[in-house]
Amino acid sequence: MADNSVSDDAMADDLTPPTRTGLRRRRAAERLPVRLLGDPVLREKAAPIAADAFDDELRHLVDDMFVTMDAEEGAGLAAPQVGISKRVFVVDARRDGGGKESRFALVNPRVVEVSDEIDAGPEGCLSIPGVSDVVRRPAQVTMEGHDVDGNPVRVTGSGLLGRALLHELDHLDGILFVDHLSPLKRRMLLKKYRKLQEE
Ligand SMILES: [Zn+2]
Repeated sequence: MADNSVSDDAMADDLTPPTRTGLRRRRAAERLPVRLLGDPVLREKAAPIAADAFDDELRHLVDDMFVTMDAEEGAGLAAPQVGISKRVFVVDARRDGGGKESRFALVNPRVVEVSDEIDAGPEGCLSIPGVSDVVRRPAQVTMEGHDVDGNPVRVTGSGLLGRALLHELDHLDGILFVDHLSPLKRRMLLKKYRKLQEE
């Protein structure tokens, strides 16, 4: 019935976001609230996905993360940013000229190779909205991990993709891009951020 579906939607909006203890079953992916700087979950070391946990719950989480990243117009989103302290992130670097291979989820990622060459580029974070600064990172990175079905994957990225891979991996270890700035630049950026938050 149409009336029922309307009230179901309205109720879904009122539900609290998923917690680390478990996700409720959902029919459709939904946008999740993004945790902001100061939330302790952003500073935790996230837990690996166990071999027997490549299931519907993980697929729901990843679907929701894609929807949330797209709604926030981000190039990447890590699970801790939606309050889930697990080693999962999604990236979308297609705006850098890549094809659909530039949009994917990576589970239990680990760095297998980084270039000696360093790239200094502007970087921001959905958890610290409104501010950005130049961050130095390896120009190219290769990571291995798994897709959402548990298949092993290996990805190499440079440019926006490489930067997004390293930024999102940092999130899984409780590291934020501001941690890569000099103390002075970090202080200035956080001051600007707090001012923006007060407005
Ligand atoms: Zn971020």
